[in-house]
Amino acid sequence: MFVVAPSGAEDLAGFIRETLPRETVLGCDGAAEAIARADAARRSGQAAAVFIFDFRGKPVGDLAEQVRQVRNAHTAAELIVIADGRDSAAFAACLQVTQTPETLTFLLAPLQRQEAMRAVRIVAERYRALHQAKRELEERNRSIVGLETRGRELNARLDIAMHAARHDGLTGVLNRAGFVDELTLRLGRRLQKQTVLLIDLDRFKSVNDTLGHDAGDDLVRKICAAMSAIVPAGDILARLGGDEFGIIIEGASQAGVVEFCARVLRVCGQSRRVQGHEVQVSASIGVAYQGDNHTQTELMRHADLALHAAKTEGRNRFRIYDTAIDKAAKHRVSIEHGLERAMNTNQLKMAYQPIVKAENGQILGFEALVRWNSPEHGPISPADFVPVAEETGLILDLGDWITRQALKDCRRWNGPYVSVNLSARQFLRHNVAERILQYAEDADLAPRRIQIELTETAIIDDVERADQNLKILRAAGVRVALDDFGTGYSSLVYLNQFAIDCIKIDKSFVDNVTRDRQSAVIVASVARLAASLGMTVVAEGVETEEQRQILIAAGCGALQGYRFGKPMSARDVTTLLAGLAASADAPEARLV
Ligand code: C2E
Ligand code: CA
Ligand code: CA
Repeated sequence: MFVVAPSGAEDLAGFIRETLPRETVLGCDGAAEAIARADAARRSGQAAAVFIFDFRGKPVGDLAEQVRQVRNAHTAAELIVIADGRDSAAFAACLQVTQTPETLTFLLAPLQRQEAMRAVRIVAERYRALHQAKRELEERNRSIVGLETRGRELNARLDIAMHAARHDGLTGVLNRAGFVDELTLRLGRRLQKQTVLLIDLDRFKSVNDTLGHDAGDDLVRKICAAMSAIVPAGDILARLGGDEFGIIIEGASQAGVVEFCARVLRVCGQSRRVQGHEVQVSASIGVAYQGDNHTQTELMRHADLALHAAKTEGRNRFRIYDTAIDKAAKHRVSIEHGLERAMNTNQLKMAYQPIVKAENGQILGFEALVRWNSPEHGPISPADFVPVAEETGLILDLGDWITRQALKDCRRWNGPYVSVNLSARQFLRHNVAERILQYAEDADLAPRRIQIELTETAIIDDVERADQNLKILRAAGVRVALDDFGTGYSSLVYLNQFAIDCIKIDKSFVDNVTRDRQSAVIVASVARLAASLGMTVVAEGVETEEQRQILIAAGCGALQGYRFGKPMSARDVTTLLAGLAASADAPEARLV
C-alpha cells in the first residue's frame, strides 16, 4: 500500500510510518507534489491508497481545492484530513468536492496520538479490505469470464464431439445413432405421424470390388447428396451404414410417400461418373408408417422387414410394411429354427431329377435337390427354406451335408453325373473348391462325374474369388453349370470369361416356347451362341412333348423336367438305372 502524507514540522509521515510499518509512506508538501508523486508511483504500478492532508492552521479555502484535485486524480484512494475542529465550513466544503464521502475521514486537532494511529490504521484497513474485495471481485469476474469462455469452448468441443458421434464422416449427414435419436425425439413429440424409409443400394459390393473402395465411397457420397436434394426441408436423411440410408418424413400422405419413394429410386438409379467410370446401381426401400403407439424400435423393425421384402422380391423397388410381411418374417424365423433341428434329426432327404440327352433321352446325369419334410409344416419347398438358410448362414452346414450325400449316392450309380446346387454364400466360402474335391475323394467319386450349378449372383458378387474357385474345380475335372439362365442381368458373352461348361435355360422360357414364337427364337439364339462359346445347353422344366420338340429344334442338347422324370429318391434312381440297363433294346439308360 502506498500512503502519501505531508512532511512538515511534526513529521506526520514518520508517525504514519510507525503506524503502518509495512507500507510505503511518501512525505510531500502540498497537494501538487502529492499528486505528482502519486502519479509517478501509479505509473510504476503502485496506486496511492491513502492521502493524508494536514490543514492545521491553514486557510480552509485551499483545503477544499486540494481535496478536489486529489480526489479527481485518484478516485479510489482514501482521504484523511487533519484540521482544526473549529471550522465546520472547511468540512462542508470538503464533503462538497468529493462525491465519495465514505472514503473521506476527518481527524480533528489537537491530535490524540493513540486515537490518530487507530484512525489511520482503520482507514488503511478499510482501503485494503475494500480493494482486496474489489480485486477478488475483479479476479472472480475475470475467472467467471474465463470459465464462461472455457465453458463455451467446452460446449463447442462437446458440440463437435456430439456432432461426430451423431454424424457420418463420409457424407456429413446423420449416422445411425443420430437417426435413432431424431426418430425417438419426433415420436416423443406426438405431433405428426412419422414415416421411416430404409434404403439399401443393390449390388453395391460389386462396385467396391471392381472399382475399389474409393470409388465406392465416392458413389455413396454422390448418391447421398442427390437424395439430400430431394428430402423435404425439415425432414431427415441419414447414412446408417455402408450403403444403407434412412429417411424420416413427417406428416406425409400415403400417396405422397409412394411418390417420394419413386423419386428416391429414380435418383439412386441414375448413372453417375465415379473416378472415371460410368456407374449405375439401383436401390431397395423398406417403408414403415407410424401407427398408434409405435416405438422407434418397432418402426425401424417394420421398415427393415419391408426392406428385406423389397430385396427378396427382386430389388430396385420399395415395399411398404404390412402384416403379411410380418407373417412372412415370423414364418422365416420358424423355418430357421426348424431347419436347424431338421439337419440334426434326419428330416432332410435328397431327391434326384434326371437330365437327359435331348435327341434320345439318354440319361446324362441327375440334379440333386434337397427335400425337407417338417413335422410341423409338412413338406417345405427348398425354394422357401434355402433362401432362409442362405440368410442365416445355415446353408454352409446344410450345403456340406447335401454335397456329401449327393456324391455318396452318385458313387453307387454307374455312369451319370450328379449336379449339385451351390448357393452364392456357399460358393463364396473360403476354400470351397478344395472342400468339394475333398468330398469327392471321401466318396471315392471321380470329379468328372460332378457338376455344380451356380446362379450368376454367385459369380458376380465376388468376381475374383469366383474366378479362382472355378479354375481350381475345372482343372480337377468338375463341370460348372450356370443355373436359371435368362432370369439375371448378364450376357453370355460377359459370362464366357468364366470357366463355365453348361448353361441351364430357366423354366420360365421353356414355359413360353409353345405359346409365343419370340421365346423359341430367344432359346434358339442362346443355344447357338452357347455352342459357339463351347458351352452345352440344358433346358429346364420340360413338361410336354410339344416343348421337347421345339427345344430340340432350337438346338438344346439336354433336357430336364417332369416329361422325363420328377425328382426321386436315391433308391428309386438305382432301381430306374438298373431297369433301364436290363431292358434289351437300350445299351444306355434312356428316358424317352
Ligand atoms: P432349381 O435349381 O432351378 O431347381 C429346379 C426346380 O424345378 C426344382 O424345384 C425342380 O423340382 C423343379 N422342376 C424340375 N422339373 C420341373 C418341371 O417339369 N415342372 C415344374 N413345375 N418344376 C420342375 P425344387 O426342387 O423345388 O427346387 C427349387 C429351388 O430350390 C431350386 O431351383 C434351387 O434353386 C433350390 N434348391 C433345391 N435343392 C437345392 C440344394 O440342394 N442346394 C441349393 N443350394 N439349392 C437348392
Ligand atoms: Ca438347379
Ligand atoms: Ca434352375
